[in-house]
Amino acid sequence: MTQPDRPTAFSTTAIHAGQELDPTTGAVIPPVYFTTTFVQDGIGGFRNGYEYARGGNPTRTALETLLAALEGGDRAFSFASGLAAEDTLLRAIVGPNDHVLMGNDVYGGSHRLVSRAFVPWGVSLSTVNMSDPDAVRAAIRPAATKVVWIETPSNPLMKITDIAAVVEIAHAVGAIVVVDNTFASPYLQQPLSLGADVVVHSTTKYLGGHSDVLGGAVIVRNDTMVGEERLADKVAFLQFGVGAVSGPMDAWLTIRGIKTLALRMERHSSNAQTIAERLLGHPKVSHVYYPGLPDHPGHSIAATQMKAFGGMISLRLADGPTARKFAETTKLFQLAESLGGVESLMCYPAEMTHASVRGTSLEVPESVVRLSVGIEGVDDLLADLLAALDQV
Ligand SMILES: *Cc1c(COP(=O)(O)O)cnc(C)c1O
Repeated sequence: MTQPDRPTAFSTTAIHAGQELDPTTGAVIPPVYFTTTFVQDGIGGFRNGYEYARGGNPTRTALETLLAALEGGDRAFSFASGLAAEDTLLRAIVGPNDHVLMGNDVYGGSHRLVSRAFVPWGVSLSTVNMSDPDAVRAAIRPAATKVVWIETPSNPLMKITDIAAVVEIAHAVGAIVVVDNTFASPYLQQPLSLGADVVVHSTTKYLGGHSDVLGGAVIVRNDTMVGEERLADKVAFLQFGVGAVSGPMDAWLTIRGIKTLALRMERHSSNAQTIAERLLGHPKVSHVYYPGLPDHPGHSIAATQMKAFGGMISLRLADGPTARKFAETTKLFQLAESLGGVESLMCYPAEMTHASVRGTSLEVPESVVRLSVGIEGVDDLLADLLAALDQV
């Protein structure tokens, strides 16, 4: 599909990479291969390597080829959920006595995965303000730190981490840098091009984009090593050997979502920018957390490492206790966890996504609400927010 001397536009890649037409029928859309096993032409005579669907299924291959192309990676692996992807990746890198360093505001489920599933097996975990390179340098344990885990923009306060700066610090001690690129999507930010080793996604969010399919992905480069072994080979083995793979229907839905990723991210970002600017200075809103606003502390870094600023905004209400009611009052913005779908969602982190960190240093103030700004008409979204602000 690519012409030799020209880079292909992101949206062209999103529609074509890995999506060869079906050779038997000419079907433009690769089929959903609902099959668990594949006939062998004599024992061991596999057609295109397909043997049993945990090891590989053509619909999943189509998605994995697409994901690798979008992130500029060499190989991608698709899983049943974002956390399944993260679990498999971590198994490939860490063991007893190894140290994982995470941002102190990473997705709660990622923190819980390490603290509850890996720490009991002898891995150590610490958290740091990933937006502060000096703090990262101080928190790294030269012989022990194997993984530095970045999420940018972060949830829910939209902090921005300078990916290239953290890569330099982590690589100095041989640690692998993982970026959870769920909030930005590869359309807005490509961590591998900034030096990161691995990208993980909850494809449940922007990649799927329609709140109808759970999934996760790991995207790697071929030259990342874990000891003497290639990380890509270790992840490939564990995807098959542990088995948390995505099913063919899930892979197909995710592919369908990705075709419109570029258009959706443009609209998510422009809607969010409009809403952030309009709510800035509203008497009932004391702070707007959005990296697209010039006074956001990460604005200039975000402007260099992201194409636009994405669809996630958080608001702090001037009268803190009214935030809870505000979250329950909007109509177009539906009250629900998750994000990244075409429809707008409202979340009250203190009691919803971040309930498990109440009372800890990771607690989210009760005055904060989080918006996943959808791609509806921005005037309708604004009217909904302004009407709800009037009522609280
Ligand atoms: C949702 C999410 C995850 C977890 O993904 P699941 O698909 O729910 O397992 C990981 N990281 C981020 C940033 C997320 O938003």
